Amino acid sequence: MTRYVYAFDEPSDGGRELLGGKGIGLAEMTQLGVPVPAGFTITTDACRAYLREGGVPEGLDAEIEEHIARLEEAAGKRFGDDTDPLLVSVRSGAAISMPGMMDTILNVGLNDVAVAGLARSTGNPAFAWDCYRRLIQMYGETVDDVSYDRTHLDVGDPERAAETLKAIYARETGAEFPQDVREQLRRAVVAVFESWNTPRAQVYRRTYDIPDDLGTAVNVVQMVFGNNGERSATGVSFTRNPATGEQGVYGEFLVNAQGEDVVAGIRTPQPLEEMQRVLPDAYEQLLDTMARLEQHYRDMQDVEFTVEDGRLYMLQTRSAKRTAAAAIKAAVDMTSEALISREEAIARIDPAQLDQLLHKRIDPSAAVDVAATGLNASPGAAVGAIVLDSPTAEERGKGEPVILVRWETSPDDFPGMKASVGILTAHGGLTSHAAVVARQIGTPCVTGCQGLEVDLEQRTVSLAGRTLREGDTITIDGADGRVIVGAAPLIEPEINEDFRTILDWADDVRRLSVRANADNPSEAEQAREFGAQGIGLCRTEHMFREGDRLAVVQEMILAADEDGRRAALDRLLPMQQGDFEGIFEVMAGLPVTVRLLDPPLHEFLRSLEDSPDPRIQSRIKALHEENPMLGTRGCRLGIQWPEIYEMLVRAIGRAARAVQERTGDAPLVEIMHPLVGFKEELRRLRDLTERVMDEEAPEIEYHCGTMIELPRAALRADEIAEVADFFSFGTNDLTQTTLGMSRDDAEGKFLTYYLEDGVLDQNPFETLDVDGVGDLMRIGVERGRSVKPELKTGICGEHGGEPRSVEFCHRLGLDYVSCSPYRVPLARLAAAQAVLKESHRAEYVAAGG
Ligand code: ADP
Ligand code: MG
Ligand code: MG
Repeated sequence: MTRYVYAFDEPSDGGRELLGGKGIGLAEMTQLGVPVPAGFTITTDACRAYLREGGVPEGLDAEIEEHIARLEEAAGKRFGDDTDPLLVSVRSGAAISMPGMMDTILNVGLNDVAVAGLARSTGNPAFAWDCYRRLIQMYGETVDDVSYDRTHLDVGDPERAAETLKAIYARETGAEFPQDVREQLRRAVVAVFESWNTPRAQVYRRTYDIPDDLGTAVNVVQMVFGNNGERSATGVSFTRNPATGEQGVYGEFLVNAQGEDVVAGIRTPQPLEEMQRVLPDAYEQLLDTMARLEQHYRDMQDVEFTVEDGRLYMLQTRSAKRTAAAAIKAAVDMTSEALISREEAIARIDPAQLDQLLHKRIDPSAAVDVAATGLNASPGAAVGAIVLDSPTAEERGKGEPVILVRWETSPDDFPGMKASVGILTAHGGLTSHAAVVARQIGTPCVTGCQGLEVDLEQRTVSLAGRTLREGDTITIDGADGRVIVGAAPLIEPEINEDFRTILDWADDVRRLSVRANADNPSEAEQAREFGAQGIGLCRTEHMFREGDRLAVVQEMILAADEDGRRAALDRLLPMQQGDFEGIFEVMAGLPVTVRLLDPPLHEFLRSLEDSPDPRIQSRIKALHEENPMLGTRGCRLGIQWPEIYEMLVRAIGRAARAVQERTGDAPLVEIMHPLVGFKEELRRLRDLTERVMDEEAPEIEYHCGTMIELPRAALRADEIAEVADFFSFGTNDLTQTTLGMSRDDAEGKFLTYYLEDGVLDQNPFETLDVDGVGDLMRIGVERGRSVKPELKTGICGEHGGEPRSVEFCHRLGLDYVSCSPYRVPLARLAAAQAVLKESHRAEYVAAGG
């Protein structure tokens, strides 16, 4: 029979998957000799069995009973005793941490008789009743969905509060608060199992791609009391600063308080340093313990602790959630402290999180109107419209940037936090719910903002006396806590020294080259700054739209015959040449892939749609397409109107030659033909390319290749490779054409439903559909290389900057990935991690896992 329960001091083979993160941490700390209250873990197996069978699996009750008996022995107290009862907490804890998403119930084991007994035996009735009212509250909310009003919780006298809560419990559930402590325990365990499936937990899992079938473990832990006097306390701490990564503990605590008081924000906690004064011995021991835990886990930890009458107990340890900046600093520091290797340092950084570092800042030279200041809870600056609750944030956030402004946030606010560009709270510290979640999702956040008041009735906020309405624009700076009325000017980010160090290490490890998609010289420059080794996609049509060219382009499209077209193209040629020269100069010595005109021509005629000219109207009508994605676009344009592609190749050839003559250094030009499906298409366009390049730049080295973005091209890659020097997988179109989904008609429509309903786990336009599209890529690479082993291969769709897709491209043996300039650092790191994963050279610890 499956065993479902393990005491903290019993070894088990199941690890984190079986015991959950909290359970494995408690077991490891116990086995290390760190002071942890006694307890046991009910495995995730039990939860899965419960959810599958819709009932407590056979044998579980007996195992729990047996472990309660062992706990009683260790504690010297009995569960359900009338005078000196053993109390326990019942705590959720999944394998992958989901902070605040599931439930915990404290002080299980109290009833009307025992509370009086506890009051007598401790001589502290306020304490006994405080425990009881907390139990009634948490148990009611978690087990029976009772919703209590805030005013009922904050009553000064705990005995009266407990009586009030009991009355509400009885009224709402139609039954008295359970006096049988075994019933309390059993129902608490089941409630924690069921909390796995609350809507907020489901949203959270979808956001972080956590599988729905893991289930949670349940930890039953002997209570230790931080709320029984002035020599008791509870707190949380990080072993390093979670926002910056700087060394030195970073925590908060509250004297005479229990558990969640620190994060709940009912009382404002004190900085941990204060504890040195009030509880010096426990403080010393806590610092020692944190240092030991960091050494043991070789990673930054986030701990919970409680001091009962001067004695320290650890209640939780886990890898700390941290900002990308902190992750990088801690990884670089830990490498110099010889705690981890360079490869581990690389593996520690979550590439998806790097976006944060590339966050904007408020222009330091701008004069801004600072209305208030709070705590710098999550870095980055954001400008947006004030919204006052989560549903409004979700709704308005679809159309414009919004900043969620709350007194404090709770797990129910998660969807709105995700939909916002910034989060501002009046209350709470750096370890509050808002701060923790914001850092994790990489959203700028200011907490504990002094002078901020929120009036939900009037839908207004007051910032140090100034009244603003919902919808008014504010700016927050999560790096220094400033709150500004109006929109402050923001500036672009840059890469600091630690970041550079990690990326240099990554460059030593990776095999894939990383290029950028850039359409103009300033993007090309940005890309080089971020370490791009060339341009993988330069889209000519973007230049078609710049400045006064659109009029000339329109003239070309509207021309009645080839002569008219050529006349307009002759005027475009020098402009295009100038564009290419600028890009080639920035990329001297590096490959630059220029894609020839791709979109259907009518896209350039939008501004003429209301023209009264009948000639224009008839041309627009002639070019109209029902399904432009599959119409006259890509190489089909170049075949039908060769003079357009000729002009583009001519501009490329002349620009390369001019740059070569001017600087002595030309880029390696790669001329790329889009949307090829048949070898004959590319054969003709290759002839055209060679002819024009021979005329314009005979001494310039260049390659001629194609995008692979149609399934047929991947399948017939062997034939196509005969006339191609390179393949670039255009996975945006390849995804659309393989899946038969047009992105614009999918996202926000049926695809959103598919993702919510679990038909698909991931958006194939964000994360490469490895099984389908990826398989076509594999076929394309294999067949292409079978006739041309030296064929160069790359990817230029948006997937080129998505970590899991980069890993796939590595395994596929592509030569390079190309992505937007801002994603280049991320792709460099992901490419190195792909090598480490493949060779198992570093243990994979996703930050905060
Ligand atoms: P969460 O996952 O939301 O942090 P926890 O299970 O860690 O939930 O518990 C919530 C709070 O209660 C934490 O502050 C924790 O330290 C405290 N707590 C949990 N178990 C005990 C216990 N046995 N004694 C004292 N405090 C506890
Ligand atoms: Mg906890
Ligand atoms: Mg395409």
